[in-house]
Amino acid sequence: MNREERRSQDDDPKRIEEEDPGMKGEGAEDDLRALEDSEEMQDLTDMEDAQDLEILKIRRTKRLKCVAWILVLAVTAGALFGILSGGAFGRWFHAKTQSGEAFVEETSDPTWDLSSVYNGPEEAKRALETLQNEVELALSQPAGVDVESLDRIMRTAERLQVYATLMRDADMSNAETKALQTSVDALVNKVMRLSQGASASESEPSIFELAGAYERIYQSFSHSYGVEFGEDPELFSENADRRYKAFRRWVASQEPSAEVFADIYEGKVGFDNYLALMYGEAEAVDAYLAMDEFSPESFDQLVSMTEQHLVLNHRWIALRGELTGLSGAMRFSDLFVDLPQGSDEAEAEVSIDQAGLYMQRVLSALPDAGQTVVKRAFDEAWIDFYPRADKYDGAYTYGAYESHPFLLLNFTGNSDSLEELAHELGHAVHMTLSSQSQPFDTYYADVAASEWAASVTEMLYHEDRVDRAESKSEKIAALANYLDFLSSTYFDQMLATEFEIESHRMAQAGEDLSAESLKDLWRSLTAKYMGPAYEVTELDGYDWVSYPHLYWDFYMYKYATGLIAGAPLTHSLLNNQSGAEDNWMRLMTAGGSKSGAVLMAEAGFDFESEEIYKSFFFHWSELMDELELLVNAS
Ligand SMILES: [Zn+2]
Repeated sequence: MNREERRSQDDDPKRIEEEDPGMKGEGAEDDLRALEDSEEMQDLTDMEDAQDLEILKIRRTKRLKCVAWILVLAVTAGALFGILSGGAFGRWFHAKTQSGEAFVEETSDPTWDLSSVYNGPEEAKRALETLQNEVELALSQPAGVDVESLDRIMRTAERLQVYATLMRDADMSNAETKALQTSVDALVNKVMRLSQGASASESEPSIFELAGAYERIYQSFSHSYGVEFGEDPELFSENADRRYKAFRRWVASQEPSAEVFADIYEGKVGFDNYLALMYGEAEAVDAYLAMDEFSPESFDQLVSMTEQHLVLNHRWIALRGELTGLSGAMRFSDLFVDLPQGSDEAEAEVSIDQAGLYMQRVLSALPDAGQTVVKRAFDEAWIDFYPRADKYDGAYTYGAYESHPFLLLNFTGNSDSLEELAHELGHAVHMTLSSQSQPFDTYYADVAASEWAASVTEMLYHEDRVDRAESKSEKIAALANYLDFLSSTYFDQMLATEFEIESHRMAQAGEDLSAESLKDLWRSLTAKYMGPAYEVTELDGYDWVSYPHLYWDFYMYKYATGLIAGAPLTHSLLNNQSGAEDNWMRLMTAGGSKSGAVLMAEAGFDFESEEIYKSFFFHWSELMDELELLVNAS
């Protein structure tokens, strides 16, 4: 995952620039547009007259805000790609509940090699010190710094940010790397101020820092107060009632903190609603859609078409219960029971070397440029594979413009791990090809484009698994896992999206966002999304506590759009359709030069029309039919 960029919707005067809504002059936007649309992207040194200087200033502002945004992302969500890449709450939650089991023997070094970023912490610290001095000096100069210097400062800050984040997440108990990250964060804040042209004395917090505060409070509270699963082995009991009781104990232990989580979330919602008011939008979601360049009409259609196809999820929930051996209605405590994985072979854990070969085969439908990146990720040690006690939980892909991406995994060699690896490799390919094709200020793709890219590789994994399943049990397993992925990446995310919309509306209407009212809202949406085969119990209604995504500004609907646009792209690559490679390359090399929504529109995806949803859900229902047939014939 990553984040966004802009363009289009130029006629909307209320549009917010997501990088910095607070700092933007009205006229600057027109100039900026004129600049984007013209040929001024020539060397800055060529600009000599007054008008050029003005343009230079605007361009500098744009570039810096853009890059500042990248840096902020790193500050606020070191795991930006990460938790997200798991996508669904279910998977994220699941990952947190799995003990990282020891591994089969492997022949390659399972950790990443960061020497291409810095050759050890000492070198990073020296670079940090040099940059700190330079930034302090620049902040004390009324004139700031010239564009070239600023560009270099930005790149170095990004490199430091990446190094510090990766080092910290590889060993979260290490005080030294934690301290390095803190120093880098402080430096990045200063670089952002420098980029905004503020002098050191005018040290007002940027809108980023304000917006990011809620997420930081949430993260630190959730770490200290533990939304994680407990150690109770009964949570994984094969007996549904014992499992239920264990979950009830766990939920009871979480309840006291729910009110504090509700307060934190209420603060974030209030901030969003205030932003909407400031920018003359009727609702917070409109403000964020404008940033994403996704039209309100498209969004309404997405929500409406989702509602019309909820029955697909209802069917899946019923089938999931059947596949996991439930006799009664499914309950919350049953959602984490593993699906069948087919033959013994499919359940076997694979080594890293095997995973590398496997991924190269699964992703062989990608054009050569993509396959080369996949191979490099393994050959050049881009990946930190195995779980460790003090390693960051989850998975993500992250890198600097001047480095290749790095993948943090908690790989156990099972099929979930392979699926996650396929997803992260999608991000890695996208980041690599975009940074090779774009200048520094536009290489970073937004969330919609990033998840679109990763959905393609993840779907290639599932299509391959279904395709090569030979026995009936393998076929059932492959189809079930595919449908589980679709359900958790699509419907779970749309449920959470509806929760976001509704909770913002409640706050706007003056209603209190308490633990109780948020729980009620989640429960009613759960009943709607899960359908008649699911029993809403006292265990339901707390999921919102576990979603860091709720602090990322209407983030989750973009998983759904990524899937809708990803499915036809995946199939066109698999079927070798003419133009498929070009379409894929356009997405891969566009980076953040255009928003994901604009790239999708250019690729012919019209989210306002019903057609793309219908074909997407049709493929889904075909998979479901096939699985139902197999299960019923058992
Ligand atoms: Zn992702």
